[in-house]
Amino acid sequence: MTAATLTIDLSAIVANWRALDRLTDCDTGATIKADAYGLGAERVGKALAAAGVRTFFVALAEEGVRLRRALGQGPAIYVFSGHMAGDAERIRQADLTPMINSIDQLLTHVEALPGHAFGIQLDTGMNRLGMEPAEWSALREIALAQKSRLVMSHLACADEPDHAMNRYQLDTFEDMTRGIDAPRSLAATGGILLGERYHFDLTRPGVGLYGGLPFVDATPVVTLDVPVIQVRDVAPGESVGYANAFVAKKPTRVATVAAGYADGIFRAMGGKASFTDHDGHKLPVLGRVSMDLITIDVSSLSQTPETLQLLGQHQSVDTVADYAGTIGYEILTSLGARYDRVYRT
Ligand SMILES: *Cc1c(COP(=O)(O)O)cnc(C)c1O
Repeated sequence: MTAATLTIDLSAIVANWRALDRLTDCDTGATIKADAYGLGAERVGKALAAAGVRTFFVALAEEGVRLRRALGQGPAIYVFSGHMAGDAERIRQADLTPMINSIDQLLTHVEALPGHAFGIQLDTGMNRLGMEPAEWSALREIALAQKSRLVMSHLACADEPDHAMNRYQLDTFEDMTRGIDAPRSLAATGGILLGERYHFDLTRPGVGLYGGLPFVDATPVVTLDVPVIQVRDVAPGESVGYANAFVAKKPTRVATVAAGYADGIFRAMGGKASFTDHDGHKLPVLGRVSMDLITIDVSSLSQTPETLQLLGQHQSVDTVADYAGTIGYEILTSLGARYDRVYRT
C-alpha cells in the first residue's frame, strides 16, 4: 500500500474531553466544526456522544445537518454562523440551534421559524462575530422574551493567559449578560485553562480534544505513518530534489516517502521539518517538499523502516506546526484526503 496511514485515536479524544470536563464544574460541550478539525465529524461526534457529550458546536448549518444524521435526535447542535439566508429548512429538519449574530439574523429566524430554538452570540471585543454592546442593548429584551437557549461570546487571546484582553472580554461579557436566565458560555479550550471565572455554564473546547495546544496535558490523537518508497545513497556534492535545494556535504542515505504538500504537509516546512522513526529518532527532511514525495535523511539509522512518522507520540501537531510557522489547528484541518484513515477506539 502506498497511501500514508492516518490513525485517529477516538479513545484519546474522549479522554481529552473528560480531562477538560474535569477542569470545570460546569457542562462541557464539544466543538467539531470543520469536520472535527479534519478528523471526521461523524466518527468523532458519535464517539463523544457515546461518552455522554450532549452539546455540539459546528460552524455551518450544512455541517450541522451531516452531524445530526450521524448522531440522531437528542444532542443539541449549535451553529456559530447563525441563521443565514436559505438555512431555514436545514435548521428545522435537522433541529439545529443557530447562534444569532445580528438583528437581521434574529428577524430572519423568528420570521422563518417562529418558536424554533436559537442562541445569541455576543461580540465582546474580537470584532469578528456576534452582536456588539449597542446592538445587544437595543435587542436584549426582545431576544430574551423569545427564550434564547444559550448566550455566548468568544475570547481572542485565551492562549495567552496574561493578556489583558482576557479580563477585558470577561468584564464585557459579564456586563452584557447580567441578570439573564439563559445559560452562558465564554470558554473554548484556552478559556477553560484561564480558570473558574471564565467557565460560566458551558464550555466549548475544540483543539484540546484533538491533542493540540493550549491544552498541554492533551493525549496525542493523530499518528501519521508514511511509507518509504525508495532508499538511495547520495555522494558528497550530489543534490536532492527540486532546485537542488539540498547538496550533500558527506555521504548521505536518503529515503523518499509517499506524501507531500498535496496531503497538507506544507511546502513551507521545507528545510526545517523532521520525521521520526518509531523510536523517536529525528530524521531531517532534505530539500523541498514535493506534491507527492518528501526526501528524508536516514543516514543515522542502521536500517530504514518501512514507514516514517510525521505525527505521533514523538511529534505533536504543534511541533509540526512550528516547522511550517503555523498553528496546530491548521495542521489538523489540512490533513490530506488521500490518507488511509484508521480509527482506533
Ligand atoms: C473554534 C471555536 C471554538 C473552539 O475553539 P478551540 O480553541 O479549538 O477550543 C469555540 N468557540 C468558537 C466560537 C469557535 O469559533
